Amino acid sequence: MTKNTKKKKNNIIRLIDVTNRDGVQTSRICLSKLQKTMINLYLNEMGVYQSEFGFPVTRHERNYINANVELAKRGVMKPLVLSGWIRAIAVDVKESFKNTKVEHLNISISTSDQMLYGKFRGKKTKDDIIDMMVEALRLAKSKGVKTIGVNAEDGSRSDLDYLVKFAKAAKDNGADRVRYCDTLGYDDPFSIYNRIHHIGKKVDMPIELHCHNDLGLVVANSIAGAKAAIDVGVDAYINTTLNGIGERAGNADLVSVILAIKYSSGFKGKYKLDPNIKLSKAWKVAKYASYAFGVPIPINQPGVGANAFAHESGIHADGALKDRRNYELYDYEELGRGEPDIVDTGRSITAGEYSGIKGFRNVYDKLAVKFKDEKEAADILDLVRYANVHNQKPLVADELKFVARYPDIARKLFSMEP
Ligand SMILES: [Zn+2]
Repeated sequence: MTKNTKKKKNNIIRLIDVTNRDGVQTSRICLSKLQKTMINLYLNEMGVYQSEFGFPVTRHERNYINANVELAKRGVMKPLVLSGWIRAIAVDVKESFKNTKVEHLNISISTSDQMLYGKFRGKKTKDDIIDMMVEALRLAKSKGVKTIGVNAEDGSRSDLDYLVKFAKAAKDNGADRVRYCDTLGYDDPFSIYNRIHHIGKKVDMPIELHCHNDLGLVVANSIAGAKAAIDVGVDAYINTTLNGIGERAGNADLVSVILAIKYSSGFKGKYKLDPNIKLSKAWKVAKYASYAFGVPIPINQPGVGANAFAHESGIHADGALKDRRNYELYDYEELGRGEPDIVDTGRSITAGEYSGIKGFRNVYDKLAVKFKDEKEAADILDLVRYANVHNQKPLVADELKFVARYPDIARKLFSMEP
């Protein structure tokens, strides 16, 4: 087999969702540890390859991180890979392994001159940056990290030759992937294509595309970068978030990225999306994220917005009724849409932080969840009260079921000691 045909074998674009890291670090966005756990479960159901699920060095994340690793070990979140995000410095690696059971990591450090002078104030040279990254990387490998990605923060504003040097050092010291971060959304689809093509050719290692939407180009940039990686024969991983929530103008929306790879004219049939992806979960997951964030889905959001399949003007409505392909590129059924939303308009009993056993029983009867005895029901009621204190909004059916099914995990999620 020639080198070229061997390289062409892997043509899959995988997705690494960073909602539970970039999403939650966004200004005005908060998720409880239960909500973050539900998002990991939904990402797993949706067939996403990896969830960057939190910050192993942040103390209030510890119980959540360990509880989720335990869920993964029990097979509840299989095959989703759970990876933590830390700075590429030795002390963060030490803390992560001392305080959590995290098994996969991405380590991050700035590589641009802007950050070197603007953030590190010129106290670090470009060689220092590589040395710090390599030290952290080697330490993580010695601690038994299963997979590790190395992030070039502000990669899009970094010198290209330096990025190649940085990525080579990462590869030579055992990194599984290099993450090209368009931290400020500075790239355009043409610039990112050329840069990723160059890095992929020179370094020959899997590349992650981490893009932001400051110029409204985030999905286009993400898929253009992935195309370059695949074209040059290396694996591509796109970083996404639910509903595009992320720092400032956001990250690449998970559903939009899937749709763009499946249906855009240049990708359809030519570039393969991870076959595990189940677009049919899109509607449910986007709705849950919107509820958990407390941020409505824009009506014009691709695929899951209220208007994504709405037609009113004469020519469009007539055309869509005659043949859906006249004005729709893909089917709403594919995204799990089309079922009516049932809203109870009579009496409703809810379970909350001050609930009693009778109301609680009524709620769980409706969910068809049975308890083996009074003691078990009372224990779960107690946890549901905590869950509500923790979320500060009514629990959804999947959350109620989760608490009843994994009470030991729920107890860990609700425990925090400042
Ligand atoms: Zn980011």
